[in-house]
Amino acid sequence: MKKYLAILGFLLFSNQIFAADCSVDITSDDQMQYNVSEITVLKSCKEFTINMEHIGKLPRTAMGHNVVITKSADKAAVSTDGIAAGIDNDYVKPDDARVVAHSKIIGGGEKTSVTFKPTDLKDGEDYDFFCSFPGHFARMTGKIIVK
Ligand code: ZN
Repeated sequence: MKKYLAILGFLLFSNQIFAADCSVDITSDDQMQYNVSEITVLKSCKEFTINMEHIGKLPRTAMGHNVVITKSADKAAVSTDGIAAGIDNDYVKPDDARVVAHSKIIGGGEKTSVTFKPTDLKDGEDYDFFCSFPGHFARMTGKIIVK
């Protein structure tokens, strides 16, 4: 019985670790920045979720932030097309095939998340996450590290 409980405890503990590894919590603020410059995504995860909280006070129309994932090489063009798409489309061109996934645009005090399949990230390609609010992508960006 003792051995059984030990194994059960280990399994519960393992599940918690597994869940933690398949998501990450990040923040953004009124200074137009994220609190991280890279996010590690484990290939072993079926799905990976980035939770983002805007810890600033400014509204989404003035200092909106989202999380968009594309190949590094597509970031600038996707951002430019996102400006034309407007805030009603979260500054992402609808059905843009270059976008792996994206969250909504949020303002201060709000939270959002974006979930994607690590298998959608191709081997040998560099991927970034960034904010596609007009003028933000050059400063609000980081690397996606796939392990
Ligand atoms: Zn932003």
